[in-house]
Amino acid sequence: MDAVPIPDLVERVKQAKANRWRAYPVKSNRASQLGHPCLRRLVYLRLHWDKQLPPSPEMFFVFDAGKTIENEAIEELRAAGFEILEQQVALEIKRYNITGHLDFTISDDGRHRYPCDVKSMHPHHAEKMQTLDDLVNSGKPWLMSYPAQILLYMHMKKSRWGMLYIKNKATHVPHPIWVQMDDTAKQYVKELFEKAKQVNSYVRRRKLPDPIEPNDAICGYCEFRHICLPDTEFGKGVDLEIDIESAVALVERYLELKELVKEMSEARKAVEQLLGDRERIRVGDYIIEMKRYRRKAYTVPEGEVKRMKIIPLK
Ligand code: SF4
Repeated sequence: MDAVPIPDLVERVKQAKANRWRAYPVKSNRASQLGHPCLRRLVYLRLHWDKQLPPSPEMFFVFDAGKTIENEAIEELRAAGFEILEQQVALEIKRYNITGHLDFTISDDGRHRYPCDVKSMHPHHAEKMQTLDDLVNSGKPWLMSYPAQILLYMHMKKSRWGMLYIKNKATHVPHPIWVQMDDTAKQYVKELFEKAKQVNSYVRRRKLPDPIEPNDAICGYCEFRHICLPDTEFGKGVDLEIDIESAVALVERYLELKELVKEMSEARKAVEQLLGDRERIRVGDYIIEMKRYRRKAYTVPEGEVKRMKIIPLK
């Protein structure tokens, strides 16, 4: 086959996206970041924003898709008769130097408005993330930041209810996570204020807090890992490092299914025991039948055998 006419097509598309990226000074504590589990990273963002690593080229596609899905969410909510107000309104808590941009507020009756943030998620995460606790306990730094973000917006808008509108990236089917400003939530918001105060104090003194225990699941995604933990090799001895959310989710899904296959095989053995030597039995509403065949002997041809092993790093 002849060489294709434009061999570097995808590279150029990626480059065009990457060229748009700029790091900007970070003068406040962003509501979208305050839920991150590492204080040192929050201080890095304020003091050394210009030293952050750019996102991987693949992430630019993820960001753009997120924007498209946000617009789609607004359109579908409007089409369903909801009022979409205060789009991208800038919010601030001066006392703690916290700022944010709310996606929009939503209203069903024109009187009550609820802060709302759209989050597009890989199908695997979209399925699993049904409550605020699921996000807090996800172990994924970008998912762990969502509860703090919506709660801070609710505080700034003085709203008792808010919503994360989750969109599955594959099916685009939405589901809401409604968030109430109850006592637990209020306590969490207070902790976020404390965290913001600590960041401000470090920034004033131009000092960095200690790093957290190096952790591939958190530090491996951090934009400051090259200056914070330069001697730590994440995924030591590997040929290629992939930090794409969808690829990580794929590996996790594989591990989950592997567990289910194991469970299925154990359940099959238990059902076979119910049958014993019998050919047909009835269990509740099920007929279970066992056909027995003689297997012919055959020789497996010689060839390459692949054995994949997944080693968890945490
Ligand atoms: S590399 Fe780890 S410890 Fe250092 S700032 Fe990032 S998340 Fe924190």
